[in-house]
Amino acid sequence: MDDCLFCKIIKGEVPSTKVYEDDLVYAFKDIEPMAPVHYLVIPKEHIESAAKITSENSAVIAHIYEVIAKIAKDEGLDDGFRVVNNCGEIAGQTVFHIHFHLLAGRKLEWPAG
Ligand code: AMP
Ligand code: ZN
Repeated sequence: MDDCLFCKIIKGEVPSTKVYEDDLVYAFKDIEPMAPVHYLVIPKEHIESAAKITSENSAVIAHIYEVIAKIAKDEGLDDGFRVVNNCGEIAGQTVFHIHFHLLAGRKLEWPAG
């Protein structure tokens, strides 16, 4: 997707601070962190939102959760963390390339917003 910000980040056309990368997934620091740890974990394949997950593309979503567990272990997030996916405008999605916020490092209130 030529006009997608996160596709540009994956291609290195827009700078980012990498946290993790493999063949399928890229993770980087959120530019406006809401917690001491705030990363975005995204598939390299452009999937618009959680509403566009199908049996054809869901394997990468499962892999993203494996990556999140690995990052949490590597970074010592032993007190816990939160994974957030905003889907669609009503939920506050602003970038339409599916992404999972990984938040940690402070007490996280619930319910959110
Ligand atoms: P959402 O509102 O769920 O769509 O989340 C989009 C997230 O992308 C927000 O938390 C933004 O701070 C973050 N963001 C936007 N542009 C960039 C960027 N260039 N680098 C890193 N994070 C970004
Ligand atoms: Zn994209």
